[in-house]
Amino acid sequence: MTLTTHILIATAAAKPFFSVHPALVFVAAIASHYLADAIPHWDWHLSSVKEDLSDKHDHNLILEKTINVRDLLKISLDIFTGSLIAFLILRPELNIKELTPLALSIFGGILPDMLQPVFWVWKEKNPFMFIKRFHSFMHSKIYLGRHFWTAKKYIIIGKVSQTIIALLTIWLIYS
Ligand SMILES: [Zn+2]
Repeated sequence: MTLTTHILIATAAAKPFFSVHPALVFVAAIASHYLADAIPHWDWHLSSVKEDLSDKHDHNLILEKTINVRDLLKISLDIFTGSLIAFLILRPELNIKELTPLALSIFGGILPDMLQPVFWVWKEKNPFMFIKRFHSFMHSKIYLGRHFWTAKKYIIIGKVSQTIIALLTIWLIYS
């Protein structure tokens, strides 16, 4: 899923806890990431990653400055877009009390994906591998646009369904 969609889903899921406790906001946002990944979805591709499409998901990072910079820009733009939409809907006051829950839902919503590069680089004796295994376990095995699902119709289904999910969450955040 795009990070924009993850941010919107996380904000919608965590919003009921905004005035309860920051820890609950964070937990709800992280949980929403794993649950959202369980839905078959389309994803844009990182050129910096050599993907392993087996169940092991043993991806490798390709270190090449131009591609890495381009991917980082794509990631930043994706995070910025989602955060901006969430911010514009909620319009929090510019103080710590109101910005903290929004920041935590954005951060929690993208954290599982932000941790992924750690596992592409640090493979030996990594005590946190269970996090990656849980991510892969929760992730739908239907990768629209990849693997066995590269036909154009699947890509369209993936993009349309993700747009619908994003619009639904925008409505949820509003209400
Ligand atoms: Zn994910």
